[in-house]
Amino acid sequence: MAEFCLECGTKIIGRVDKKFCNDQCRNDYNNRLNKDETEFMVKVNRALRKNRRILKALNPKGKAKVKRNEMETEGFNFKYFTHVYKTKDARVYYFCYEYGYLPLEKGYFALVLNKDI
Ligand SMILES: [Zn+2]
Repeated sequence: MAEFCLECGTKIIGRVDKKFCNDQCRNDYNNRLNKDETEFMVKVNRALRKNRRILKALNPKGKAKVKRNEMETEGFNFKYFTHVYKTKDARVYYFCYEYGYLPLEKGYFALVLNKDI
């Protein structure tokens, strides 16, 4: 129903349901929309992959106990995780993909590996 092109604002001549004056305008419009989303996702994905890499490096055997500052020194970002797992006794494991961590007392973390989805 657009009377003017959503990308360039040119008055559209032709079908009533046209939103763009040509393919170029449609592509430019959609690329711009996708780019905004992609930049955010790239940043989040990068942070998640970095977190996973750090957890993997600190937990080569699939089970470990580390101090918070060991994770922070490597650049671990606690803001980003992929999912949480809550146990029956209400403990919450945070995961970055298959590598997880559980906050313990006195700034320690239990590191785990769980490939079940
Ligand atoms: Zn246009």
